[in-house]
Amino acid sequence: MMNINIYPILSPVIEALGKAIVIGAIAFAILILIALLFCIFIFHTHRIIFPNLVLFLILVCEEPLRRLLSFFHVDPTLVDRVSVEIGNAVNYPAFASTKLEERALLLPQCIRSPDCPAKLSPVEGIKCVECGRCEIAKLSAVCKELGISMYISPGGTFTKRILMYNYNGGSGRVKAVVGVACYPNLHEGLLNVKLVGIPAQGVPLKTTGCVNTTVDIHEIIARCKMGIGNRE
Ligand code: SF4
Repeated sequence: MMNINIYPILSPVIEALGKAIVIGAIAFAILILIALLFCIFIFHTHRIIFPNLVLFLILVCEEPLRRLLSFFHVDPTLVDRVSVEIGNAVNYPAFASTKLEERALLLPQCIRSPDCPAKLSPVEGIKCVECGRCEIAKLSAVCKELGISMYISPGGTFTKRILMYNYNGGSGRVKAVVGVACYPNLHEGLLNVKLVGIPAQGVPLKTTGCVNTTVDIHEIIARCKMGIGNRE
């Protein structure tokens, strides 16, 4: 039986593959570094530069970026904060062009009092009865006054259903959204809402957690009314 030495054939292929992997790894490391520098710049200056490029870099390098920040003992939600800040700025023109009655406020259920008497509707989420045990009562009253729809979502899947029901299968009048959540959920939520073509504004929770979270209701109301004063 003839012995064929395949090493001379494979050797250049393996060498080329090795070089490609090293070049790819260096290029990816450079991308992470560029994304990190952009994030730090935007976080500290609040100046939005190259928004689409930075959002793309964040999406591509998200996990390594978080690990790198954690390694240097920096809060990894910096990535989410920058992403939300960019999302709010990019979505502003489309959001501001909508009427108040075309907007919806989406709240997470963690703001509710543990003794909340509200019932869950399979279509519209948790229906606040304005009992006054949490800040949602005030937001509900303001939303009614402004003509904005308000929804309390028990979870991410439900949020999507609320949006789909009202945007596609329902009355179809929700054309813009103000979402309230912790930064990681806002980061994900703003991207998801953009995919269904709804301009959104994100407002972070003041204190996070699974229960008894708090919000800045003035900031939420200001976001809900954004762009309206400019037209008067
Ligand atoms: S104000 Fe609304 S959401 Fe808050 S505890 Fe009362 S019913 Fe529940």
